[in-house]
Order: sequence, then C-alpha cells, then structure tokens
Amino acid sequence: MRILILGPQGSGKGTQAKRIAAAYGAPHVATGDILRAAVSNGSEFGKQVRPILERGDLVPDDLMIELIRERLADEDTFVLDGFPRTVAQAEALDAMLDEIGKPLDAVILLRVSDEVATERLHRRAVEEGRSDDTSEVISNRLRLYHELTELVVDRYQLAGIEVIVDGEQSMDDVFASVQDALEGVVAGR
Ligand code: ADP
Repeated sequence: MRILILGPQGSGKGTQAKRIAAAYGAPHVATGDILRAAVSNGSEFGKQVRPILERGDLVPDDLMIELIRERLADEDTFVLDGFPRTVAQAEALDAMLDEIGKPLDAVILLRVSDEVATERLHRRAVEEGRSDDTSEVISNRLRLYHELTELVVDRYQLAGIEVIVDGEQSMDDVFASVQDALEGVVAGR
C-alpha cells in the first residue's frame, strides 16, 4: 500500500502513520523525523534547515522534493507523513509517482479543530520538550497548515482518493476508523 496521511499538527498524524506502517508492513516516511535527524547529526543540510524548523517555517520546496525523490526511489510501499505540505510539493509527488507507475492507494485526512490541535501541542511541549512546540511557533505552524497545506487537502479531495477520519476520537478509535477506510480501499481494488 502507498498511503499518504494528512492533517494539522496535533492531529495525531505521526502516531497513526506509525501504526498503519506497522500494520501494513510499509516504511513510515516522516519528513519531520528525517529533518530532525539531519539537524541532530549536524550535517550541512541539517545546519541549513535548523533555523527554519526552529521558526516553524517550511523548508523550501526544491529541497523537500529532492529529499523525497531520493527517499522514495526504491520503495514500493510507504506511509508518507509530513509531505506534501504545499501544492508545488503535491504536484511534484504526483508526477514522480506517475512516472514510475506507482500511484497512491489512499489519502487519509485526520480532521481536528484548531482548539484540540493547539491543546494537544501544548501538552506535547510539556511532555516531550520539542523545540518547535512553543506557543508562537505552534501558531505559525498551524497558520501555514491553513494557508498552504489545506490546498493540498482540497487537491486530493477533488481527485476522489481522500478519506476523512475524525481525529478527535481516542487514538484506538482513530486507528480503527483508518483501518476501516483502508479495508474499503483494498476491497475496491
Ligand atoms: P508538525 O507537523 O508537528 O509541525 P513535522 O514533524 O511534520 O511537524 O515537521 C517539523 C518541521 O519540519 C516543520 O515545522 C517544517 O519546518 C519542516 N518540514 C517537515 N516536512 C516539511 C515539508 N514537506 N515541507 C517543508 N517543511 C517541512
């Protein structure tokens, strides 16, 4: 299965992506994790993106597209989490997958309100101490989601491959809803 998971920060996207990846035996490709690993190993690329992550801004599209092109080159299946965040990234992804004849099987959108997302992110800030979980940076990340990533959500909705899941349920209930949706996709093949 080639699955894309979309949703705002605090929607539980990372948690669900990991569970889906484990259930379907597909690698979890999370751009946030890849970027944070680059920052912590101090590579040139890491040094370049570090201030961007700290502000909660977006890494330039060309860098992200190249990163994903390399990362997905040899994968037949994946659960993609954190990419695409802009229409340019989505266009590049679609072209890339089209070229190699490996279209997405499903796009899952985890829907949560800003209130719930913000509350969860503040809680995670206390629990995990992620450096981009400060109030100002959280609101910047959510603002960019609404401004840019929602256009990506609209794009896949128009393409008719998006399934909306209520992300405000408990983690287990969200996962059950995701599994139902994916079973529908498998059955429809
Ligand atoms: P969250 O969705 O909780 O903000 P992520 O772990 O997905 O966090 O990403 C952390 C940061 O990495 C983002 O705030 C952004 O700076 C950068 N990033 C991740 N994916 C992308 C992407 N596709 N395009 C641009 N920047 C990205």
